[in-house]
Amino acid sequence: MLKTAIKTKAYATNGANEPLIPFEIERRAPRADDVLIDIKYCGVCHSDIHNTRDEWGGALYPMVPGHEIVGIVTEVGSAVTRFKPGDRVGVGCMVDTCKECSACNQGLEQYCQKQVVLTYSSLELDGVTRTYGGYSRQITVRDRFVVKIPDSLPLEKAAPLLCAGITTYSPLRHWQAGPGKSVAVVGLGGLGHVAVRLAVAMGAKVTVVSRSLNKKADAAAMGAVDYIATSVDEDRARAQEAFDLIINTVSSSADMDSYLGMLKLNGTMVLVGAPPEPLSVNPFGLLMRRRALAGSTIGGMPETQEMLDFCGEHGITAEVEVIKMQDINQAYERLLKADVRYRFVIDMASL
Ligand code: NAP
Ligand code: ZN
Repeated sequence: MLKTAIKTKAYATNGANEPLIPFEIERRAPRADDVLIDIKYCGVCHSDIHNTRDEWGGALYPMVPGHEIVGIVTEVGSAVTRFKPGDRVGVGCMVDTCKECSACNQGLEQYCQKQVVLTYSSLELDGVTRTYGGYSRQITVRDRFVVKIPDSLPLEKAAPLLCAGITTYSPLRHWQAGPGKSVAVVGLGGLGHVAVRLAVAMGAKVTVVSRSLNKKADAAAMGAVDYIATSVDEDRARAQEAFDLIINTVSSSADMDSYLGMLKLNGTMVLVGAPPEPLSVNPFGLLMRRRALAGSTIGGMPETQEMLDFCGEHGITAEVEVIKMQDINQAYERLLKADVRYRFVIDMASL
């Protein structure tokens, strides 16, 4: 007998200039390798704003955003062995890939050469079925794209790790943040504040680069040993050629050259922030110090589980402001003004 689809409540937007409003969607009944999850919390990523407003192009409406999903397993398909009902689990930015290309075979599913099925505003591998994200009560996900949340981490504070956590953990590992390395995190927002905690736990000497002095005390409490306010002349001077690695989380195309000038000889700046517009870079800022400008996106499934386990061991979570689903439109306005310390997380019980 064919199982019927599951109707579930959600919030969606119908266009780039439209607010998020109540909406009903259907989730598929679990297939053999699927996990059905009762969503408890969903983080609000700046990407949700870029996407709902179609700033990157390609938006599919109606759109149910949300890719920092945590919840409890309620049902598993017959072939699922890693999960059982009652497990605390998470889902991040992707829900499927080809699973057979060289990237997928290395556990780098985020760089799948054929198709990354994003958690929302995307099409499933069938090329027809739309994906809807975590601003909803339930989700059905292929087990490979589900991770376990360590018992020691409260669910609402763990939710942002599913995107903000892995997006910063992956480049910190790839570019070997650790003892003896000076790492700067540019932008103390959702991604940035988790990046600081991760890099500190990896043993790096961490500096926060922010626009104003407002977040200085918070940065120190998170373990940063120095703080550069780019609005302060002496701070900017002190930051010249100071860092081996910069993780740049800025969501708009701010002055790349001034950040590149903060790199030492052979230093690397990794862009994880995804401004919609092209960046301008003075080539001499790169070539005169053999600097590198790089990019990185989320992380693969093995690394996402590794990151969560690392956070469990080190007690790393996000600073969150829990909101009701009904408050999402105001939350977007506040996020655009960097008026959140440091991640909004939606309590799905409010939906
Ligand atoms: P967020 O919470 O808004 O944080 C961004 C921070 O950047 C702000 O808090 C602010 O920090 C700084 N900032 C904002 N506008 C700026 C400007 N004009 N000049 C200089 N600094 C500015 O956003 P988020 O959720 O962390 O996301 C950040 C970016 O990463 C977004 O573009 C998002 O789409 C992208 N992202 C990429 C990936 C990926 O896979 N690569 C994954 C997730 C998110 P201060 O107040 O400290 O200055
Ligand atoms: Zn995100």
